[in-house]
Amino acid sequence: MPIRLTRRRWALVVLALAAVPVVLLFRAWKANSDRGGQKYAEPFRIAGNFYYVGANDVSSFLVTGPEGHVLIDGGYPGTAPMIAASIAKLGFDIRDVKVILNSEPHLDHAGGLAALQKASGARIYASDASARTIESGGDDPDIMLPIRLLFWTRIIRYPPAHVDRRLKDGDTVRVGPVELTAHITGGHTRGCTSWSFPVRDGTRVLNVVSACSLIVLGGSRYDGQSGDLEHTFATLRALPADIWVSSHARLWGRYRKFVARDTAKDPADPFVDPAGYRAYVDSGEARFRRGVVQ
Ligand SMILES: [Zn+2]
Repeated sequence: MPIRLTRRRWALVVLALAAVPVVLLFRAWKANSDRGGQKYAEPFRIAGNFYYVGANDVSSFLVTGPEGHVLIDGGYPGTAPMIAASIAKLGFDIRDVKVILNSEPHLDHAGGLAALQKASGARIYASDASARTIESGGDDPDIMLPIRLLFWTRIIRYPPAHVDRRLKDGDTVRVGPVELTAHITGGHTRGCTSWSFPVRDGTRVLNVVSACSLIVLGGSRYDGQSGDLEHTFATLRALPADIWVSSHARLWGRYRKFVARDTAKDPADPFVDPAGYRAYVDSGEARFRRGVVQ
Protein backbone atom coordinates (compact mmCIF):
# COMPACT_ATOMS: atom_id res chain seq x y z
CA MET A 1 0.00 0.00 0.00
CA PRO A 2 1.53 3.37 -0.92
CA ILE A 3 2.31 5.66 2.00
CA ARG A 4 0.40 8.86 1.72
CA LEU A 5 1.80 11.93 3.35
CA THR A 6 0.04 15.19 3.80
CA ARG A 7 1.88 18.31 2.73
CA ARG A 8 2.62 19.09 6.38
CA ARG A 9 4.16 15.68 6.97
CA TRP A 10 6.24 16.02 3.83
CA ALA A 11 7.57 19.30 5.17
CA LEU A 12 8.49 17.58 8.44
CA VAL A 13 10.31 14.78 6.60
CA VAL A 14 12.25 17.29 4.49
CA LEU A 15 13.12 19.31 7.61
CA ALA A 16 14.30 16.20 9.46
CA LEU A 17 16.48 15.16 6.53
CA ALA A 18 17.91 18.67 6.22
CA ALA A 19 18.75 18.63 9.93
CA VAL A 20 21.07 15.62 9.55
CA PRO A 21 23.94 17.44 7.81
CA VAL A 22 23.46 20.43 10.13
CA VAL A 23 23.83 18.18 13.20
CA LEU A 24 26.83 16.41 11.66
CA LEU A 25 28.43 19.74 10.79
CA PHE A 26 27.81 21.04 14.32
CA ARG A 27 29.35 17.91 15.83
CA ALA A 28 32.41 18.22 13.60
CA TRP A 29 32.71 21.91 14.50
CA LYS A 30 32.36 21.12 18.21
CA ALA A 31 35.01 18.38 18.09
CA ASN A 32 37.32 20.71 16.19
CA SER A 33 36.80 23.61 18.58
CA ASP A 34 37.42 21.28 21.58
CA ARG A 35 40.85 20.73 20.14
CA GLY A 36 41.25 24.22 18.68
CA GLY A 37 41.84 22.83 15.19
CA GLN A 38 44.92 20.97 16.46
CA LYS A 39 46.12 17.81 14.78
CA TYR A 40 48.00 14.85 16.18
CA ALA A 41 51.77 15.18 15.87
CA GLU A 42 54.33 12.41 16.04
CA PRO A 43 55.87 12.30 19.55
CA PHE A 44 59.67 12.21 19.70
CA ARG A 45 62.70 12.49 21.93
CA ILE A 46 64.10 16.02 21.96
CA ALA A 47 67.16 15.06 24.03
CA GLY A 48 67.92 12.57 26.78
CA ASN A 49 64.85 12.12 28.98
CA PHE A 50 63.00 15.08 27.42
CA TYR A 51 60.23 14.32 24.91
CA TYR A 52 57.66 16.13 22.79
CA VAL A 53 54.11 14.82 23.34
CA GLY A 54 52.04 17.80 22.17
CA ALA A 55 49.83 18.40 19.14
CA ASN A 56 51.01 20.07 15.93
CA ASP A 57 51.20 23.51 17.53
CA VAL A 58 49.99 23.42 21.13
CA SER A 59 53.00 21.97 22.93
CA SER A 60 53.27 19.46 25.77
CA PHE A 61 56.45 17.87 27.07
CA LEU A 62 57.35 14.78 29.05
CA VAL A 63 60.40 14.65 31.32
CA THR A 64 60.92 11.04 32.30
CA GLY A 65 62.65 9.53 35.31
CA PRO A 66 63.10 6.19 37.08
CA GLU A 67 60.70 7.19 39.88
CA GLY A 68 58.08 8.78 37.66
CA HIS A 69 57.57 11.39 34.98
CA VAL A 70 56.65 15.05 34.79
CA LEU A 71 54.26 16.33 32.12
CA ILE A 72 54.28 20.01 31.14
CA ASP A 73 50.90 21.31 29.86
CA GLY A 74 47.61 19.66 29.05
CA GLY A 75 46.58 21.12 25.69
CA TYR A 76 42.91 21.66 24.82
CA PRO A 77 40.22 19.35 26.27
CA GLY A 78 40.14 17.63 22.88
CA THR A 79 43.92 17.18 22.60
CA ALA A 80 44.32 15.39 25.97
CA PRO A 81 43.66 11.99 24.28
CA MET A 82 46.42 12.83 21.75
CA ILE A 83 48.86 13.54 24.60
CA ALA A 84 47.92 10.25 26.30
CA ALA A 85 48.37 8.39 22.99
CA SER A 86 51.76 10.04 22.43
CA ILE A 87 52.98 9.06 25.90
CA ALA A 88 51.94 5.46 25.17
CA LYS A 89 53.51 5.53 21.71
CA LEU A 90 56.86 6.49 23.25
CA GLY A 91 56.56 3.39 25.44
CA PHE A 92 55.68 5.11 28.71
CA ASP A 93 52.74 4.42 31.01
CA ILE A 94 50.61 7.49 31.73
CA ARG A 95 50.12 6.15 35.28
CA ASP A 96 53.84 6.79 35.83
CA VAL A 97 53.27 10.53 35.32
CA LYS A 98 53.48 11.79 38.91
CA VAL A 99 53.32 15.55 38.42
CA ILE A 100 51.61 17.72 35.80
CA LEU A 101 52.82 21.30 35.42
CA ASN A 102 51.24 24.19 33.55
CA SER A 103 52.78 27.11 31.73
CA GLU A 104 49.61 29.21 31.54
CA PRO A 105 45.97 28.54 32.35
CA HIS A 106 44.45 29.45 28.96
CA LEU A 107 42.12 26.92 27.32
CA ASP A 108 44.82 25.72 24.90
CA HIS A 109 47.30 24.70 27.63
CA ALA A 110 45.09 23.86 30.61
CA GLY A 111 41.91 22.51 28.95
CA GLY A 112 43.14 18.92 29.06
CA LEU A 113 44.60 18.98 32.60
CA ALA A 114 41.56 17.42 34.31
CA ALA A 115 41.40 14.50 31.86
CA LEU A 116 45.14 13.89 32.09
CA GLN A 117 45.06 14.10 35.88
CA LYS A 118 42.26 11.50 35.88
CA ALA A 119 44.09 9.20 33.49
CA SER A 120 47.40 9.40 35.36
CA GLY A 121 46.49 10.01 38.99
CA ALA A 122 49.19 12.72 38.93
CA ARG A 123 49.32 15.79 41.14
CA ILE A 124 49.01 19.19 39.47
CA TYR A 125 51.36 21.99 40.54
CA ALA A 126 50.80 25.58 39.42
CA SER A 127 51.49 29.17 40.42
CA ASP A 128 48.92 30.87 42.66
CA ALA A 129 47.33 32.92 39.91
CA SER A 130 47.28 30.00 37.46
CA ALA A 131 45.82 27.70 40.13
CA ARG A 132 42.83 30.00 40.63
CA THR A 133 42.04 29.90 36.91
CA ILE A 134 42.65 26.14 36.55
CA GLU A 135 40.38 25.35 39.50
CA SER A 136 37.60 27.55 38.10
CA GLY A 137 37.83 25.92 34.65
CA GLY A 138 39.28 28.94 32.87
CA ASP A 139 38.00 32.06 34.66
CA ASP A 140 40.66 34.76 34.80
CA PRO A 141 39.82 38.01 36.63
CA ASP A 142 42.51 39.80 34.57
CA ILE A 143 40.74 39.40 31.26
CA MET A 144 38.46 42.13 29.89
CA LEU A 145 34.75 41.87 30.43
CA PRO A 146 33.71 41.08 26.81
CA ILE A 147 36.21 38.21 26.76
CA ARG A 148 35.20 37.09 30.22
CA LEU A 149 31.68 36.72 28.78
CA LEU A 150 33.14 33.89 26.69
CA PHE A 151 33.90 32.11 29.95
CA TRP A 152 30.48 32.77 31.42
CA THR A 153 28.86 31.53 28.21
CA ARG A 154 31.12 28.44 28.42
CA ILE A 155 32.94 29.13 25.12
CA ILE A 156 36.38 29.33 26.76
CA ARG A 157 35.47 27.17 29.76
CA TYR A 158 37.21 23.86 30.33
CA PRO A 159 36.90 21.04 32.87
CA PRO A 160 38.35 22.39 36.13
CA ALA A 161 41.24 20.48 37.67
CA HIS A 162 42.39 20.28 41.26
CA VAL A 163 45.74 21.95 41.95
CA ASP A 164 47.65 20.05 44.63
CA ARG A 165 50.52 22.46 45.18
CA ARG A 166 50.88 26.20 44.60
CA LEU A 167 54.33 27.19 43.43
CA LYS A 168 56.29 30.31 44.26
CA ASP A 169 59.01 31.83 42.08
CA GLY A 170 62.14 29.70 42.39
CA ASP A 171 60.42 26.61 43.84
CA THR A 172 61.73 23.24 42.74
CA VAL A 173 59.64 20.29 41.65
CA ARG A 174 61.18 16.88 42.24
CA VAL A 175 60.22 13.40 41.12
CA GLY A 176 63.15 11.16 42.06
CA PRO A 177 66.24 12.55 40.30
CA VAL A 178 64.12 14.69 37.94
CA GLU A 179 64.19 18.28 39.15
CA LEU A 180 62.65 21.37 37.56
CA THR A 181 62.72 24.97 38.77
CA ALA A 182 59.61 27.16 38.49
CA HIS A 183 60.06 30.75 37.35
CA ILE A 184 56.98 32.90 37.67
CA THR A 185 57.35 34.98 34.52
CA GLY A 186 54.12 36.95 34.38
CA GLY A 187 52.89 39.22 31.61
CA HIS A 188 51.10 37.00 29.12
CA THR A 189 49.09 35.92 32.15
CA ARG A 190 49.74 36.98 35.73
CA GLY A 191 50.95 33.56 36.86
CA CYS A 192 52.62 32.39 33.66
CA THR A 193 55.36 29.95 34.63
CA SER A 194 58.61 29.13 32.82
CA TRP A 195 60.57 26.02 33.72
CA SER A 196 64.28 25.30 33.74
CA PHE A 197 65.91 21.90 34.15
CA PRO A 198 68.99 19.96 33.10
CA VAL A 199 68.73 17.03 30.73
CA ARG A 200 71.44 14.39 30.45
CA ASP A 201 71.92 13.44 26.80
CA GLY A 202 74.62 10.81 26.42
CA THR A 203 77.74 12.32 27.93
CA ARG A 204 76.56 15.94 27.89
CA VAL A 205 74.21 17.84 30.20
CA LEU A 206 71.96 20.29 28.38
CA ASN A 207 70.10 23.11 30.11
CA VAL A 208 66.49 23.34 29.01
CA VAL A 209 64.21 26.34 29.38
CA SER A 210 60.49 26.06 28.74
CA ALA A 211 59.73 29.77 28.38
CA CYS A 212 56.39 31.51 28.78
CA SER A 213 54.66 33.23 25.93
CA LEU A 214 55.86 36.85 25.80
CA ILE A 215 52.81 38.10 23.92
CA VAL A 216 50.88 40.83 25.70
CA LEU A 217 47.20 40.32 25.02
CA GLY A 218 45.04 43.40 24.54
CA GLY A 219 42.22 41.59 26.34
CA SER A 220 44.34 40.67 29.33
CA ARG A 221 45.82 43.72 31.06
CA TYR A 222 46.37 44.01 34.79
CA ASP A 223 47.99 46.30 37.38
CA GLY A 224 51.64 45.47 37.74
CA GLN A 225 51.87 43.83 34.31
CA SER A 226 54.75 46.04 33.13
CA GLY A 227 56.71 45.28 36.31
CA ASP A 228 56.01 41.58 35.81
CA LEU A 229 57.34 41.76 32.25
CA GLU A 230 60.52 43.55 33.35
CA HIS A 231 61.06 40.73 35.86
CA THR A 232 60.25 38.16 33.17
CA PHE A 233 62.83 39.45 30.69
CA ALA A 234 65.51 39.72 33.39
CA THR A 235 64.71 36.20 34.62
CA LEU A 236 64.73 34.60 31.18
CA ARG A 237 67.98 36.36 30.22
CA ALA A 238 69.69 35.03 33.34
CA LEU A 239 68.79 31.39 32.62
CA PRO A 240 71.37 29.26 30.84
CA ALA A 241 69.58 27.73 27.84
CA ASP A 242 71.00 25.17 25.45
CA ILE A 243 67.57 23.92 24.45
CA TRP A 244 64.50 26.11 24.62
CA VAL A 245 60.83 25.49 23.99
CA SER A 246 57.57 27.33 24.54
CA SER A 247 53.86 26.62 24.68
CA HIS A 248 53.28 26.99 20.92
CA ALA A 249 55.44 24.89 18.60
CA ARG A 250 55.59 27.62 15.94
CA LEU A 251 57.43 29.88 18.43
CA TRP A 252 60.35 27.50 18.98
CA GLY A 253 60.48 25.86 15.56
CA ARG A 254 59.40 22.35 16.53
CA TYR A 255 58.77 21.15 13.00
CA ARG A 256 61.91 22.67 11.47
CA LYS A 257 64.07 21.17 14.23
CA PHE A 258 62.20 17.84 14.07
CA VAL A 259 62.92 17.55 10.34
CA ALA A 260 66.57 18.59 10.83
CA ARG A 261 67.11 15.54 13.10
CA ASP A 262 67.20 13.33 10.00
CA THR A 263 70.45 14.82 8.78
CA ALA A 264 71.98 15.81 12.12
CA LYS A 265 75.02 14.07 13.59
CA ASP A 266 73.14 13.72 16.88
CA PRO A 267 69.30 13.94 16.79
CA ALA A 268 69.40 16.37 19.74
CA ASP A 269 71.69 18.82 17.89
CA PRO A 270 68.98 20.79 16.03
CA PHE A 271 67.36 21.59 19.38
CA VAL A 272 70.54 23.08 20.82
CA ASP A 273 69.70 26.67 19.98
CA PRO A 274 70.92 29.28 22.50
CA ALA A 275 70.89 31.97 19.78
CA GLY A 276 67.24 31.20 19.00
CA TYR A 277 66.46 31.55 22.70
CA ARG A 278 68.12 34.96 22.94
CA ALA A 279 66.28 36.08 19.78
CA TYR A 280 62.99 34.91 21.31
CA VAL A 281 63.56 36.97 24.48
CA ASP A 282 64.91 39.95 22.48
CA SER A 283 61.90 40.06 20.16
CA GLY A 284 59.48 39.69 23.08
CA GLU A 285 61.18 42.55 24.89
CA ALA A 286 61.32 44.72 21.75
CA ARG A 287 57.56 44.26 21.23
CA PHE A 288 56.96 45.18 24.87
CA ARG A 289 59.12 48.34 24.59
CA ARG A 290 57.19 49.37 21.47
CA GLY A 291 53.91 48.81 23.32
CA VAL A 292 52.72 46.07 20.97
CA VAL A 293 49.62 44.25 22.16
CA GLN A 294 47.86 41.47 20.30
ZN1 LIG B 1 47.97 32.06 26.22
